[in-house]
Amino acid sequence: MIHSMSSQPDPFDLVGVFQEVNDKFFDNFLELPVFRWNSRLRSSAGRFIPGQRKWIQDAPPVIEVASYLLEESNAAFLIRDTVAHEMIHYWLWVRRQPYGHTPEFYEKMKLMGVSRYNPVPRTVSYKYVYRCAHCETEFPARRRLGPLACAKCCRRYGQGKYDVRFKLHLVRAWDPAVPLKTT
Ligand SMILES: [Zn+2]
Ligand SMILES: [Zn+2]
Repeated sequence: MIHSMSSQPDPFDLVGVFQEVNDKFFDNFLELPVFRWNSRLRSSAGRFIPGQRKWIQDAPPVIEVASYLLEESNAAFLIRDTVAHEMIHYWLWVRRQPYGHTPEFYEKMKLMGVSRYNPVPRTVSYKYVYRCAHCETEFPARRRLGPLACAKCCRRYGQGKYDVRFKLHLVRAWDPAVPLKTT
């Protein structure tokens, strides 16, 4: 594969993945889109950006892949899965179909054996769990909270005003395996 002088070195052969999937599931129907690594994608593994219709002159369609997938232990599998998923959006779009997660999308997805959801989302995780001393509802928090009170109790028993009786107390560190108490 020849890279032009200006192109970024590709840490993974996305074009190669595209060609393999295009051949296997799309009869090589799809034109090569632009592939981009996106370091800001966290909850989704990839993104399809439709092009302008006459894309020879205008913007071509783009498939973005989350850079962080490269750090996962099963990177090759995840990247192929992501590219294949985005290619279904692209395939629907190019045939002028609604290109969201439509019944046709799901049908093709099942046929190809690709995922609907990102199995390794990197969402911002919580650090602390606070609890209302009154109703015992627990709230996850990303940082230490100031003197906040339980809105529900303030509404119900304090005419909506801040009431120290319903102050939230730090009870433990956040652990995704421990369910939050709700009321
Ligand atoms: Zn999708
Ligand atoms: Zn409460």
